[in-house]
Amino acid sequence: MSARTILQKLEILADAAKYDASCASSGTAKRNSMGGKGIGSTEGMGICHAYAPDGRCISLLKILLTNHCIFDCHYCINRKSSNVARARFTPQEVVDLTLAFYRRNYIEGLFLSSGIVKSSNHTMEQLVEVARILREEHDFRGYIHLKTIPEADAEIVHQAGLYADRVSINVELPTDSGLTRLAPDKDARQIEGAMGKVKSDITELKDAHKRFKHAPRFAPAGQSTQMIVGADAASDADIVGKASRLYDSFGLRRVYYSAFSPIPDASAVLPLKRPPLIREHRLYQSDWLMRFYGYKPAEVMQATEADGNLPLDIDPKLAWALKFREQFPVDVNRASKEQLLRVPGLGVKAVGRILASRRHRNLRLDDVARLTQSITKVRPFICTVDWRPVTLTDRADLRSLLAPKTEQLELFAA
Ligand code: SF4
Repeated sequence: MSARTILQKLEILADAAKYDASCASSGTAKRNSMGGKGIGSTEGMGICHAYAPDGRCISLLKILLTNHCIFDCHYCINRKSSNVARARFTPQEVVDLTLAFYRRNYIEGLFLSSGIVKSSNHTMEQLVEVARILREEHDFRGYIHLKTIPEADAEIVHQAGLYADRVSINVELPTDSGLTRLAPDKDARQIEGAMGKVKSDITELKDAHKRFKHAPRFAPAGQSTQMIVGADAASDADIVGKASRLYDSFGLRRVYYSAFSPIPDASAVLPLKRPPLIREHRLYQSDWLMRFYGYKPAEVMQATEADGNLPLDIDPKLAWALKFREQFPVDVNRASKEQLLRVPGLGVKAVGRILASRRHRNLRLDDVARLTQSITKVRPFICTVDWRPVTLTDRADLRSLLAPKTEQLELFAA
């Protein structure tokens, strides 16, 4: 077989990287300059968008170093037993691609992951080598996110953190039993051990940097992880519990949730259907409740239904409020910030504006309406100087009144 060209490798290895949700790409219209017209393309293979620590949206080249792998994780298209086209970049090829894309202003950084070739240490060394060449030989100042292999020696992972802005180690599945069944080569203790080491390196070098200006930085954008949802029997309550333990134990910047998607030649132990995408969305909402709205994990779990899963038709904040109606209505002119953050339909910004405005005058329902997208959702849970919901909060059909209307399929549409 003739050697693959860089473009062929890029096609295979950018496509193979798309299953990693840690930096999701945004959809856009297809345009390109093939045929000599115009300049630029929206079909740049492997380009995705991510958010930098300062909130900027940045474009990243998102690729694998290789999709060869000696592991056999059932849910992964790149597993040893999968029948996919394989390719492998050298570190220098990834460096050249990154710099070429960067100079053309296509990207502001690199998101690099890899299947495991030869050994975990060998693969991790290759990933680090890409970052080293970029930083040391080309003084590359763009963003670098390196996926880290938990089975590799801690010293090599440490090197990764010295070059990368962010490192991530995937926990893969929400439960240890799911990991044992679906990723037999991986070990939950090893994964969490590696995350713990990254956390202590981040803390240690952050402290050193405060004391000595020239102390090296270690993963200044922190570490993150990803969990696959729907490949095993774990419920949303299990996932929320796991995510909260990970945030607490390892100081993660983000936990990403990736709805399992069926792959060609899938193993028989996997479900045939992907979970509804809305499940992934509800988990992200529950994540926000814990990180920005002051909900404890146990409270998010209270929003789940009898099967341990979050409802799909309403968001978890509304689900919680409907279960704990005795906590409402809250008086927007007197309630604490914590109480206001519990009101369905009031976001962090709206609560901030309510707190600022009520210093000057008593708020009316119209004032609150101007701060929210849907006053219908808010009304049953608040009082203002001119509004009390009376029996509305306790109505048995409140859930159906507030659930977003599902669109009727147009059976006879042209
Ligand atoms: S180690 Fe990574 S690339 Fe290899 S099979 Fe498992 S998930 Fe896929």
